Amino acid sequence: MAPIIPSEVDVLIVGAGPAGLMLALWLSRLGIVTRIVDKRTDKVFSGQADGFQARTLEVLDSFGIGERVWKEANRMFEVSFWNPNPDGRIQRNNRAPNNVVGLSRFSESVLHQGRMEGFFLDGIAASYPHPANPAHQIKVERMIIPTSLTIDKDKVDDDDAYPITVTLRHLSEEEATPTQRLSNFRDGLFRSNLAGDDVASTIEKSNGRKDVREEVVKAKYVVGCDGAHSWTRQTLGKDFEMRGEMTDFIWGVLDIVPITDFPDIRNRCMIHSASSGSLMIIPRENKLVRLYIQLTEVKAGGGRVDRSKITPEMIFKAAQKIISPYKLDYHYCDWWTAYQIGQRVGDKFSKLDRVFLAGDAVHTHSPKAGQGMNVSMQDAYNLGWKIGLVCKKILHRNILSTYELERKQIAKELIAFDHKFSRLFSGQPAKNVMDENGVSMEEFSKAFNMSHMFTSGMGVDYKSSALVAKPPEQPISKCHTKVKEDQATVHSQAQSTPSLATNCKPGMRFPSFQVVAQVDARPWQLHHKMPSDGRFRLVVFSGDISNPARRKVVNDLGVWLSEDVLPRYPRIMLSPGSDPHGGVMKFETDRYPSIIDILLVHTARRDKVEILRDLNDIYHPFDPKLGWDYDKILVDAPSYHDGYGHAYEGYGIDPKNGALVVVRPDGYVGLVTSIEEQGWTEVEKWFRGVLRSV
Ligand code: FAD
Repeated sequence: MAPIIPSEVDVLIVGAGPAGLMLALWLSRLGIVTRIVDKRTDKVFSGQADGFQARTLEVLDSFGIGERVWKEANRMFEVSFWNPNPDGRIQRNNRAPNNVVGLSRFSESVLHQGRMEGFFLDGIAASYPHPANPAHQIKVERMIIPTSLTIDKDKVDDDDAYPITVTLRHLSEEEATPTQRLSNFRDGLFRSNLAGDDVASTIEKSNGRKDVREEVVKAKYVVGCDGAHSWTRQTLGKDFEMRGEMTDFIWGVLDIVPITDFPDIRNRCMIHSASSGSLMIIPRENKLVRLYIQLTEVKAGGGRVDRSKITPEMIFKAAQKIISPYKLDYHYCDWWTAYQIGQRVGDKFSKLDRVFLAGDAVHTHSPKAGQGMNVSMQDAYNLGWKIGLVCKKILHRNILSTYELERKQIAKELIAFDHKFSRLFSGQPAKNVMDENGVSMEEFSKAFNMSHMFTSGMGVDYKSSALVAKPPEQPISKCHTKVKEDQATVHSQAQSTPSLATNCKPGMRFPSFQVVAQVDARPWQLHHKMPSDGRFRLVVFSGDISNPARRKVVNDLGVWLSEDVLPRYPRIMLSPGSDPHGGVMKFETDRYPSIIDILLVHTARRDKVEILRDLNDIYHPFDPKLGWDYDKILVDAPSYHDGYGHAYEGYGIDPKNGALVVVRPDGYVGLVTSIEEQGWTEVEKWFRGVLRSV
């Protein structure tokens, strides 16, 4: 059946960059009627963003596309720091690991943005046909721009209304094609686009190429993922201005296959030259190397630099000067660009919780720390399930306000980090220990090492809200700037007891450790049991269930969950792509499970546990309300071939006490509480504040 392009949609996404595609992927998995439009044709450019942080790879893995990036990307394990010696010649002063050891099963990797966008489109295609809406399929519609947007304020609280009206204009080929600047190389003064080969079936060009035409779309929600010059943001009015500053630092970027005698060309490198500026080396896939080059000879003079005056030759000469006396040449240049560092963040991320902004549309900064694409995708990852489950009437609508609460905090932290990092990197190196104005090697490498928690994406610590039950005294972690509390925030009635699981911090991402399946001894990363399918997870860390008293607690919990909790909340229709690590779902019961998924991780010896004998209530095999899934009972035990995950130790859980951990659909911890009855009350309060009952 040909997909229908509707003029009434749950969600209209403007912009198909990393943020827009991440949002479209979420909404495709949830079966939400969505259109996504972009002004560009599908012309291919390379370059632009290329750094994938560990958290981003975890997220992509939860959709089943992380492994493709992981396989193709270049992985960066080490960083070396070069500074001038007393004679002014650059020398290697230090080497350090590029990632915090043990933080994630992924490490920072590099692959160009266009390739990744192709993976997103494949991930979207894998969601269909969606049982919730078999006739609809999300396709990126190209060569389209919105020209007007109005919100009917009287209808914003009506779940069934389409309060937003948007006019879309279909562009001609010329209107949608950016002119290339006067160089033989592909340049990035315009953003990169998609690789044509992988995506043809998931892209539709506007059919308005010959006759320019307009159409009107009614939407429940609109999300502006339309980049730094966001039309959506500008249309929302002056309350939505970006605040921040433009620096005088000008940088060039070259993607080249180098010919050089510089020994660390395949290592990530930070080079501070004595007086010619700084250079960062990022070794990439396919023998490419990206150079970020400070252009000390181009002056902004307190204003905006005219980037059209910058040429690739000029950038290359600057690189040769910084890296001298080593020789630098290349036989192939793939892409280049130049930019002036500007650090800005929007005041508001949403209007009436009906129109939202994500990605570069609400925060811009320098690209060197490899954050923009990652943070943009994370914005959309935070928003996608919230909008999707509100559209499905599963989530209370007021949960949407947590998007701005959570993501504005991260954007502000990002700008603060970038402010510090880019000044350290662009500053002059200290001439000696007495030089207070210069940047010392120690200062720079310390700041770099300290920043790992933030740059890996693992330091995200969302504030207290209906979705995050922190105990009142729990401070925001050290690496975070304090952001003023939003008075409108709805707080959870539930309270966590974080001491029960010291490495599962409410507001932070639930980590992953290897466990073993009770039924067949297969080792699993616990994250692989938590795909991005829209479900909440209740992870029952029971301790030793071969102990009868402990087993009784677990079985009593099971009775309570199956009789009092699960029937109260809706089920969710899953897409065919929902369980990328579990295989294709064949049965109806698999496709329509409860919105709350329950996992049990025990510490008893595997051979001391018989599921049907010992766990008759929590996983009742014949109860159609729960569905029966042999894969939900896991053990913290050694595997035959892949070692021992030591999960309880990793999560900071004492097996004698156990714990219940509620994990949100985006993998962040919502609640940590006791497995005993007092903990059940907290679980009940937490879900009541988040989910609508049936
Ligand atoms: P964009 O990627 O800008 O996408 C916006 C989309 O909206 C585009 O497809 C555009 O065509 C479309 N659009 C715009 N206006 C309209 C309109 N009116 N109507 C319809 N469609 C519209 N980030 C990293 O994380 N890691 C890196 O290593 C990294 N390196 C970078 C290197 C360079 C040289 C540069 C310039 C940036 C780099 N970034 C990096 C930043 C990263 O590219 C951006 O932060 C990221 O692309 C933002 O994603 P986005 O989806 O918000 O916006």
